[in-house]
Amino acid sequence: MSDTATPRAEAVIDLGSIRHNVALLAGRAAGSGAATMAVVKADGYGHGAVPVARAALDAGATWLGACSAAEAIALREAGIDARILSWLDTADTDLAPAIAAGVDVSVSSAAELARVAAAAGRVGGVAEVHLKIDTGLSRNGCPPALWPDLVAAAAAEPRVRIAAVWSHLACADEPGHPSIDAQAARFAEAYATATAAGLSPLRHLANSAATLTRPDLHLDLVRVGIAMYGLNPVPQKEDLRPVMTFRSAVALCKRIAAGESVSYGHTWTADVATTLALVPVGYADGVPRTLSGRMDVWLGGRRRPVAGRVCMDQLVVDCGGDEPEPGSEVVLFGTGAAGEPTAREWADTIGTIDYEIVTGMFRPRVRRRYVGEGVR
Ligand SMILES: *Cc1c(COP(=O)(O)O)cnc(C)c1O
Repeated sequence: MSDTATPRAEAVIDLGSIRHNVALLAGRAAGSGAATMAVVKADGYGHGAVPVARAALDAGATWLGACSAAEAIALREAGIDARILSWLDTADTDLAPAIAAGVDVSVSSAAELARVAAAAGRVGGVAEVHLKIDTGLSRNGCPPALWPDLVAAAAAEPRVRIAAVWSHLACADEPGHPSIDAQAARFAEAYATATAAGLSPLRHLANSAATLTRPDLHLDLVRVGIAMYGLNPVPQKEDLRPVMTFRSAVALCKRIAAGESVSYGHTWTADVATTLALVPVGYADGVPRTLSGRMDVWLGGRRRPVAGRVCMDQLVVDCGGDEPEPGSEVVLFGTGAAGEPTAREWADTIGTIDYEIVTGMFRPRVRRRYVGEGVR
């Protein structure tokens, strides 16, 4: 096998689209006086954290968001010196390397504050801390009842600097949901506690959906994830460009007679003689098996149905009277601009969200290729 062979499963990442989407989102944020954090957790939602981060910083983001200290340190090791916030690790994770690397860390409890302060002490520095208030998501974040004590303890701790107060919304993708205003009100109250303690940290609350629909909640910084990848989390139309195209190529083409059945379980039977194209991608490459019998691919300039079950490494396309050449491109999902399926269509079909589809491409068998403006 040579490196120039067509990959079986390839995620093409258009960094020009990252730049377009970030410019749109950062423009909205700047309209409210807010800065933009590009969230690149889970290896950039399956798109590759480092290339996405660089394109996002070029296009107007000034912060990066990472789930863990390890993700944040990987960005630093790639030479990225932008401000980075890391928000969730296990209780025994050593945060000293992240603090030494100038990564901001989140704190939700007195115990976390003590661990961060101890880690800062070990590296002889001061940790930049974002105090997280739980305004109603009930995930991480400090419960309101414990907040005044946490703020007081943080303010009195010389090894931390309180850079921000922040929280996360539960239902921002449903504009008008009453929880959004309820969370915003709790957030304002929590922030007032911090200012009353003599602090003046940044405030951040909005994810992609709130960035698109609630300029009043942009505050000082917005944290955009999914919309940067071109997937729209809100009902209204937005000029976002899907960044990932998932493609393969026909490996083999053959005729079968009427009455022949296809793939495991023989769930599909040809009612007339037809041509089948074998495509070497399957559920080990991120094609959900639950799409069996419920998906099309884009092949030879049109949509064609997948016949029978999606297997671990392969699927079979019914090409009717057409006989695509082996090597012909097969688009599993893309931008939708030409009529090809999209990640959103897969998600809607199987009852999930497009976040899970693209993040599911974060796997060793899927090769990534970067195209577009901003490639380095
Ligand atoms: C993932 C995440 C985001 C980004 O959310 P999107 O809906 O993808 O914009 C923002 N903030 C936090 C804390 C997150 O975990």
